[in-house]
Amino acid sequence: MAEKSLRETLINELVEAGIPSPRLEADIILKHAAPSYPETTPDEEKKAEEMLRRRLCREPLDKIIGCREFYKSYFKVNQNVLTPRPDTEILVEKALLLLPEENSLQLLDLGVGTGCILLSLLAERKMACGTGVDISAAAADIAAENARALGLESRCRFIVNDWNKTDFPPESFDMIVSNPPYIPRAEIALLDREVREYDPLIALDGGEDGFACYRQLAAFVPLILKPGGYILLESGAGQAEQIAGIFTATGLALVEIAKDLAGINRCVILKKEVAK
Ligand code: GLN
Repeated sequence: MAEKSLRETLINELVEAGIPSPRLEADIILKHAAPSYPETTPDEEKKAEEMLRRRLCREPLDKIIGCREFYKSYFKVNQNVLTPRPDTEILVEKALLLLPEENSLQLLDLGVGTGCILLSLLAERKMACGTGVDISAAAADIAAENARALGLESRCRFIVNDWNKTDFPPESFDMIVSNPPYIPRAEIALLDREVREYDPLIALDGGEDGFACYRQLAAFVPLILKPGGYILLESGAGQAEQIAGIFTATGLALVEIAKDLAGINRCVILKKEVAK
């Protein structure tokens, strides 16, 4: 009987482990480990087997290959950043509807992670400049790397800082976006293993009730937003109304709560009205 091919071995092991889409995943592993497959070197085979071993420990494939597609670009990812989710693309789509093409705009992303939101916006708005803040230096490094890979580094900067200590001049941004940590602490243990073990806890943990970061943001974001400017916040399932309440209490006006592709309220949009 002929020896099993590397591809068959990968597929069989992925099937046995109950990984969904085993054929697709086997092909992605081969594409990254052994680009000339079925021709392979022993090193390439070892690389494919190592990738398989990580996948069988339920590490997400994006983290293993180090790259994830989001909106219109690819972003480098690793264990220090939250993997971009398709759910977050609604934030980018809604933001673009509010950002005129021709104006030079200042954008701020709080909790920038991979940079997927900020960099997707900068790629679409050539006159805009962006600032990304993250508490994690390792995350800010990845965001900066992604900016360089997309040729956007001249229009953005990344700052490592706790939001509380980020001292921006008043009314300095036209738009502020954020996908903060929002999982209630007690629910973290219930998250899917691929998220719980491989996305950084600091990007998930939203405090006791999941709203800690929104309260923190609400304390200073309205001050650094220009009159007429917008803030777009990602929200977890069932959280949008309360998030809207936290921000309207500061005087911002609720513009819209937008749903993601699964029909879940995912994006809270608020505006700082121009004083009459
Ligand atoms: N959407 C992520 C998840 O479902 C959580 C991201 C966040 O806390 N901002 O795991």
